[in-house]
Amino acid sequence: MPKHSNNKHAHKHPAHKHPVIIIGGGWSGLACAITLADNNIPIVLLESAPQLGGRARGVHFKQFLNTADKKAYSTQANRSHQQLDNGQHIMLGAYHTTLSLFHCLGIDTKKVLQRQTLQLSLFSPKTDNNKKQAIHLTTPKLPAPLHLIIALATTQGLSVKERFSAISMSIKLAIKQFTLKKDISVKALLNHYQQSAFLIQVLWEPLCLATMNTPIHSASAQVFLNVLKDSFGHKRSDCDYLFFKQNLSECFCQPAETFIEQHGGSIHLSSKVIDIIPKAHSFIINTAYGQFESSNIVLATPAAISQKILSKSPIASPYLLPRKASLEFQYEPICTVYLQYPSSTQLPQTMIGLFATLSQWIIDRSLCQQDGLLAIVISGSGKHLTMAQQDLAQQIHNELSACLDKLPQFIDYQIIIEKKATFSAKVDIEKQRPSNKTQINGLFLAGDYTQTRYPSTLEGAVKSGICAAQLVLEKINTQQ
Ligand SMILES: Cc1cc2nc3c(=O)[nH]c(=O)nc-3n(C[C@H](O)[C@H](O)[C@H](O)COP(=O)(O)OP(=O)(O)OC[C@H]3O[C@@H](n4cnc5c(N)ncnc54)[C@H](O)[C@@H]3O)c2cc1C
Repeated sequence: MPKHSNNKHAHKHPAHKHPVIIIGGGWSGLACAITLADNNIPIVLLESAPQLGGRARGVHFKQFLNTADKKAYSTQANRSHQQLDNGQHIMLGAYHTTLSLFHCLGIDTKKVLQRQTLQLSLFSPKTDNNKKQAIHLTTPKLPAPLHLIIALATTQGLSVKERFSAISMSIKLAIKQFTLKKDISVKALLNHYQQSAFLIQVLWEPLCLATMNTPIHSASAQVFLNVLKDSFGHKRSDCDYLFFKQNLSECFCQPAETFIEQHGGSIHLSSKVIDIIPKAHSFIINTAYGQFESSNIVLATPAAISQKILSKSPIASPYLLPRKASLEFQYEPICTVYLQYPSSTQLPQTMIGLFATLSQWIIDRSLCQQDGLLAIVISGSGKHLTMAQQDLAQQIHNELSACLDKLPQFIDYQIIIEKKATFSAKVDIEKQRPSNKTQINGLFLAGDYTQTRYPSTLEGAVKSGICAAQLVLEKINTQQ
């Protein structure tokens, strides 16, 4: 965790003549840069995109309008509707490292985050044969793990048997410290604890997709349990939702940039790194616009890009990582559909879930002063990825209309598909994830895919960036 030094620039570390180079300005690269800058280490951050934030950034749409009804839109919407995120992001109360980093940057978390007690409301649309179904789970203000037990015991929409089996599984897993002797799929774990098909469909599968973005039949039960342990095994507030009240760039990337620059670091945007050439005691980093030299590099690009950069460099991968660790990951997509309704449109609560539909989670963006704007999250692959955008927007609207009363026709939509949103957190993934330290002296890795115990998340990225920074600090300090 970055320290809060009151004596900035009081002394520069003399042991390194080159600044530390951080490649990639996503949340892991930024967390690394902040930690080093806070320790008076000169840094240069190279980011290929014209903006910081990577997979968690604000996106400005000059033309948000996709539908014909521009007149209705211009009377309903204001300029802030054009500032979205490249994907709706939610944090958990258990994201302590990210919250501490916000604190270090002086971010007023009450201003930028809306904290809400875990409350799950999931609906399924009414079909010809089926009645409309709803599940409601609320966590009471009781110490952990009592809050979870009472929440499950009082969940509306589940049978007594289902509630009991969910509680029984949670207790048995807690007794085992949420640790498995051998990793299996989340589906196999749920079957082992005799969770009914309905319980899986309405509770465990949505939770697994929301936290890991990996289908339950292939998702690692151990990674899922790591998230459950951190969210439910300690403090009650760890399972709170934290919704961003500003777009991700405004909330984190801009304060991060200011902090780094005020601490003497420099940030180069639109600076794509092509390769890294090792020299006797340093590395040459080639970008499209010039060269940099450093004896300490943190490669904070996604695993596939790190592998590409290194494959072009005379740093052969077998010598880079210890046995079994690899940069070869599979990825899962996330599709975010933004539907603009008249500004008076509101969800019954900030977030609701749908099941037996394409739509999974719906977030009311009025929390970002974007009244009438709903963000619909669809994790994983499916037919939505190949549908025409207008058809997808209409289908999502139809699903919402079937679950929510009196929803008016939407005025506009915007769809953002991130094909490689997260790495696929499959069974045994933990064995493959590399640590931040490589076999090459002075070359470190950072990114959500490294050994963080977490799935692909902001918390994982931030933890990894800070860990890489600490390794650089250790190396610099031992050289003094
Ligand atoms: C749609 C979506 C929804 C998500 N929802 C959530 C959520 O609700 N909660 C949550 O916790 N997490 C969520 N995530 C995951 C989270 O966004 C990521 O885990 C996190 O942002 C990863 O950060 P990172 O720094 O590891 O990687 P990235 O963000 O990928 O950062 C890597 C950076 O490297 C840069 N780069 C690439 N190539 C080069 C090069 N050659 N030279 C220089 N720079 C380069 C990239 O431009 C990028 O800025 C979501 C992700 C997506 C896409």
